Amino acid sequence: MITNATRHDRGRCIVASVDLKLGQVVSAEMPFVYVPQQSKRTTHCNHCLKAIEQSLRCTACMRDLCINFIGQYAYYCSNDCYKKDWKRYHSKECKAIQLHTKRSEKWEAGKHLTESIRLMAQLLFMLEKDTEKKEQFKALVERTINIQH
Ligand SMILES: [Zn+2]
Ligand SMILES: [Zn+2]
Repeated sequence: MITNATRHDRGRCIVASVDLKLGQVVSAEMPFVYVPQQSKRTTHCNHCLKAIEQSLRCTACMRDLCINFIGQYAYYCSNDCYKKDWKRYHSKECKAIQLHTKRSEKWEAGKHLTESIRLMAQLLFMLEKDTEKKEQFKALVERTINIQH
């Protein structure tokens, strides 16, 4: 349905081989790692990223970071998402947040946990524990390097 192409007027691009309807999904893929944007951290689920109607918070983050500046770290739309995210990654992040909090001044804890740091930590964890994903990531990096040359 879609293929990679190089057009003299546009450079590298993706081209549809059939007519597409407006809004039609042509490709979907799970990201290697993800976190909600910092500004949406308390309004969107840490696991499925959907807007939260009635929030549920990680109680471990809540215990250590329950001050106004930071608030709780991970918010969820449902218990199911909380359980899945705990298994996927948050148990590791949560432990790291708690360690960081104990070593920092309360008001500064979490200040440095930007999206980039959270994503890098998640990537390192994923590369260490999942050999299949590690190989996929290596292939992705190699393809990216080849594209740039
Ligand atoms: Zn969710
Ligand atoms: Zn937590």
